[in-house]
Amino acid sequence: MKLIFQKSVKSRKGVDITGALQGGTEKLPEAKYLRHSPAELPEVSELEAVRHYVGLSRQNFSVDTNFYPLGSCTMKYNPKILEKAASADAFTGLHPILGFYSCESCAGALEVLYRMQEFLSEITGMHSTSLQPMAGAHGELAGMLMVRKYHRKKRNNKKFIIVPDESHGTNPASAAMAGYGVVTIPTGPDGLLDIDILREKLSGETAAVILTCPNTVGKFDPRIKQISSLARSRDALMYYDGANMNAIMGKVRPGDLGFDIVHLNLHKTFATPHGGGGPGAGPVGVTKELSEYLPYPRVVKDEDDGFALSFDRKKSIGRIAPFYGNFSVILKAFIYIVLLGKEGLKDASEKAVLNANYIMKNLNASFNNPYPGHCMHECVFSASEPGMAMNIAKYLIDNNIHPPTVYFPLIVKEALMIEPTETESLQTLDNFIDLMRKASELMKKDPQRLQDSPVSMPVGRLDEVSAARQPDVNFTS
Ligand SMILES: *Cc1c(COP(=O)(O)O)cnc(C)c1O
Repeated sequence: MKLIFQKSVKSRKGVDITGALQGGTEKLPEAKYLRHSPAELPEVSELEAVRHYVGLSRQNFSVDTNFYPLGSCTMKYNPKILEKAASADAFTGLHPILGFYSCESCAGALEVLYRMQEFLSEITGMHSTSLQPMAGAHGELAGMLMVRKYHRKKRNNKKFIIVPDESHGTNPASAAMAGYGVVTIPTGPDGLLDIDILREKLSGETAAVILTCPNTVGKFDPRIKQISSLARSRDALMYYDGANMNAIMGKVRPGDLGFDIVHLNLHKTFATPHGGGGPGAGPVGVTKELSEYLPYPRVVKDEDDGFALSFDRKKSIGRIAPFYGNFSVILKAFIYIVLLGKEGLKDASEKAVLNANYIMKNLNASFNNPYPGHCMHECVFSASEPGMAMNIAKYLIDNNIHPPTVYFPLIVKEALMIEPTETESLQTLDNFIDLMRKASELMKKDPQRLQDSPVSMPVGRLDEVSAARQPDVNFTS
C-alpha cells in the first residue's frame, strides 16, 4: 500500500476550498494568524482519497467483518443501535465542562451517569461505583490506591499484593505502581490457585488479593468464599478483576463472594467497541466501608431530586480522569444494559458459557487441553510444539478468522485462548471448529503450510524482531 502522500500529483485537486477559505480569513482577528506557505497536504482527487481510505478500512479485521475469538477480550458484537443512540446531538453536543461543574444542559448526562453507577453497583453487589477510570488497568490502579488509603487509615503495615500466576499482567503492574511488592501463587493441575500455598503466603503484611473470577484459564473457583475469609482474617482486601464478568453477569455478584473492590471492563462485557487499545471504561465499585475513598467528582442526587457532581470528598484518592471518564463508552454500555435488562444479561452469560464449552468439547480430541472439564466463557488449549500457537494464529488469519489470544496465560505453553462470546451463531462456531481441526491435522502432516501462513493477506509473515526494532510502516507490496 502506498501512503496517500505517495499518490500525490502536483495541482491535482479534490474539493476546491480556496474560495471558502478566503471568506473565512476575514473572520481572523489578526493577519499574523494567516499561514504564509501552503499546507503540505497530499494533492489527490476526491475519488482517489475515497479509494485510499476505503481500501485501508478493508484491510482491518473487526468484529463487524470477521469472527474474533480473542480470549479475555470479549469481542462481542457491538449493536449499532448503541452508536445511534450515543450519537444523538443532545450527547455529542455536550460541553466538556460536565467534568468541572454541574450545569443545566448536563442534567440528562448526569442522570445517565447516576443511573449507570446504580446499575453497576447492583450487577457487582457493591455499595457504590465510580465510572471515571478509562480502562480495566486504570480501574485496577484506582483500586490499589484505595487499598493503600484504607490500610494507611488503619495504620496497618502492609507491603504485598497477592496475585495468582495465571493473572493478567496489569494486576501485578497496578500493585507495583501503588508501591506494593507482588507475591505470586501458583496454579494447581485443576486450573485453580493452590490454596495451601495461598494460606502459607497470606500474612499480616498482605494488603490485598487480586483475583480474576472465572480466572484466565476459564475456571470458576468454587472455594472463593473460603479464600475471601482467609484474606479477611489477615485484614487483606479482596480485589475482583472483572474482565471475565461476561461469564457470570446477572448470575453471581462479586460482592456476595466477599470481594471489596471490583472493576468492570465496559468495553469487553457491555458491548462497546474496542480494539487496538481503546477507547474503554473501567468503572470501579467498592463496599460501603471503602466508598469514601472513591475518586471524585461523584455523581450524586441533590435535594430536589436533580443530579450534581460532588467534589467534597476529603478522603478520596482524588481525581483520576479529566472531565468525567470516557462518557461515550459509559453511555453505550448504559444503553446496552437498559436494552438487555436483568434477564437479558443473564441469558448473554449463559450463552457465552455454552458457546465456549461447545468449542472446547469439539476440539478436545485435536489439541492438548491442560485443564479439561467444564470451562466458563473461554477455554485454553496448548498447541504444544514451540512456535505452533503463532503458526495456527496466522493460518486462521488466512481463513478470515481473527486469531485467539496466543501465549497468554503465561502458565500454558503455546497457549491458544478462545472466547467465542454469546453473539456468534452455531454455523460460525462450527466453521471455526472445522478450521481448527484442519490446523491440527496440518501440524502433523504439513507443518510447513502453517509456517508459511498467511499467504492471502496484504502482509505475509514478518520478521517480528526486525518489525519491533526497525519498524517500517511505509511498506510496499
Ligand atoms: C483486559 C484485561 C485487563 C485489563 O483491562 P484493560 O481494559 O485492557 O486495561 C485486566 N485483566 C484481564 C483478565 C483482562 O482480560
